[in-house]
Amino acid sequence: MTEYLNTINLGANTLGVKVAARRYFNKEVSELSLSESTVIAAITKNPSKLNPITHPENNAVRRKQVLHNMLSQGYIDESRYQEALNDPVYERIQNVNLVTQGEDKPYSYYTDELTEQVVDALMERLDYKKEDATKLLYSGGLTIYANQDPDLQAIVDQEINNPENYDTAKYSISWRYTLQHEDGTIVNFSEKDIEKYLKEGKGLSFNGLYTSKDQANKRIEEFKEKVTVDSDRILGETVDYVLEPQASFVLMDPHTGEVLALTGGRGEKKQSKTLNRASNVLRQPGSTFKIITSFAPAIDLYGATLASTYYDSEYTLGNKTFKNWYSGGYLGFQSIRDGIVYSLNIVAVRCLMETVKPERGYQYAESLGITSLVKDDENPALALGGLTRGVSNLELTQAFSAIANGGELEKAKFFSKIVDQDGKVLIDTTEDKPTQVMKATTAYLLTDAMKESMESNRAFASDVRVSSTSTRAHFDGMSQAGKSGTTSNNRDIWFIGYTPYYIGGVWGGCDDNQVLKDAKTGEYNGGTGFHKDIWRKIMTKIHEGKTDPGFSKPEDIVEAQVCRKSGKLPTSGCYQDYRGSAVITELFAKGTVPTEKCTYHTSWGAMLVPENLRDLDTDDHYYSYKEPEEEEEDEDSERDSDSSEKNTKNKITISEQGPSKKKSAED
Ligand SMILES: [Zn+2]
Repeated sequence: MTEYLNTINLGANTLGVKVAARRYFNKEVSELSLSESTVIAAITKNPSKLNPITHPENNAVRRKQVLHNMLSQGYIDESRYQEALNDPVYERIQNVNLVTQGEDKPYSYYTDELTEQVVDALMERLDYKKEDATKLLYSGGLTIYANQDPDLQAIVDQEINNPENYDTAKYSISWRYTLQHEDGTIVNFSEKDIEKYLKEGKGLSFNGLYTSKDQANKRIEEFKEKVTVDSDRILGETVDYVLEPQASFVLMDPHTGEVLALTGGRGEKKQSKTLNRASNVLRQPGSTFKIITSFAPAIDLYGATLASTYYDSEYTLGNKTFKNWYSGGYLGFQSIRDGIVYSLNIVAVRCLMETVKPERGYQYAESLGITSLVKDDENPALALGGLTRGVSNLELTQAFSAIANGGELEKAKFFSKIVDQDGKVLIDTTEDKPTQVMKATTAYLLTDAMKESMESNRAFASDVRVSSTSTRAHFDGMSQAGKSGTTSNNRDIWFIGYTPYYIGGVWGGCDDNQVLKDAKTGEYNGGTGFHKDIWRKIMTKIHEGKTDPGFSKPEDIVEAQVCRKSGKLPTSGCYQDYRGSAVITELFAKGTVPTEKCTYHTSWGAMLVPENLRDLDTDDHYYSYKEPEEEEEDEDSERDSDSSEKNTKNKITISEQGPSKKKSAED
């Protein structure tokens, strides 16, 4: 990984030698003469007092010193020294300055976040107060070695901004309009007033998105006509158009924590420090959180394995009924691996409630570096990422990077070193030690299941159709694992995926939380799959020419055959399941292979669903085995308040030939 140098503050809002070279000389760094280079070198000691535009005379003194040092240390000879000294370099700076006036590019999203990270690091590690840290950053002549890889950043920027990756380009607007009435009163209007006018005044079902800039402009003009009279004075009007849906991307090396590229939005970035959707915006993480708060802690700390099963059926806690994302029925006993591959909601919620507990899922997420949770999040919806505030793409990607790095969390690093103007290293992040946040075996097992979610396959079931959630992100020629997330009503879409080399986190959504797609109303604002295309395209490009070493497997991972319905050792009945043999080979951390035998399958292959679950309508229910006498008693006492319709449910006779069809059995 090549480090490249960003020298903070070379005056005139420039950041880095490259930008300074363009700003002062309208040249690339490689094209600078000795004379010009020394002007820039002279700025660093005191960017405000030695600025070549505002204080050329000071800069000249310092520049002479730099040249003198180079001469005395043998970097240049006497003739080059004289030539540089005699060069009327400051006249050229003035000219370029006039030419480029007002053309300074705003900071990139990466640099915006880098400056925040530098200030935070100065405060946390060196006890600076915020204002002192900020002052040091902008006028202390610091040299910051950023971890950004310009080539990778260019690929990320290109795909995030590639119109082909979106089938929709709508616009939200930020509009300010100020009028002064004849009597002197001043009134302000914003895009919210237009929205109100369209909804309440015209009765339109407007959601804040315009289909084109033209349409937005028409609405603005229409509204202005409504509120403006001839005697009004227009004091000001500004409008900004923001492309929607939006997206953000974070690319890291999970083994070092280096943030190699980051993009906080699509479309032109007009100012520094604008809305950074990669690092500063919190959004609902959806199903990506199944791993973070439910499956990972269950396996890592609470004795579960990839083969542990939970009952996928209608599931109600208090007044909340949890549903799966797919329709067509419930699958009965499903393993944690199935829960990951098919992103099963009920399995994740049951795992959190029965094995982990919400408060411990919450703590586990915090141990992976998630800082935006609040106490109220300690509830069953935590397993599905239903959060009070949400998470940032940066923290979510960082959390998954621990899984990609064998359970060791390397905090996201935007710079390797900060060096002061005297050359003293103030902060060196390359010496930071990672934290072991989960067992290496847990990380590998989760990776193996997430790998499968990117491959094409289908759940073991009779007629419930559900497929892997992340095949659209898959690209050829490289090991890869990842987890998708789509929030209810399709407001946020995520994919966090990694290879042996990199981890990339992509988010998509609309800034004002509009739906991306609503099957019921037909509203469509980009759909729910484009982020996976972006991830696949970026990852394909950055892995070009790389060999696939595979994910490294810890020594204490073992294989064992188990029953997929019970997660326990198979009996002869487990082979006889009418949906096919229920015996599978699963991976385990050494010492966690089950020792008990399956009790869910009868010797002839029927399912013996535990009594407390027999009421529930699932794929396994076809085979639920009835023990006549005992069951009758229990049922009578339990079912007093139940409807007669429900009473018929367990009256299914199982024959060895296979299941009677669910509907006909009930009717
Ligand atoms: Zn079994």
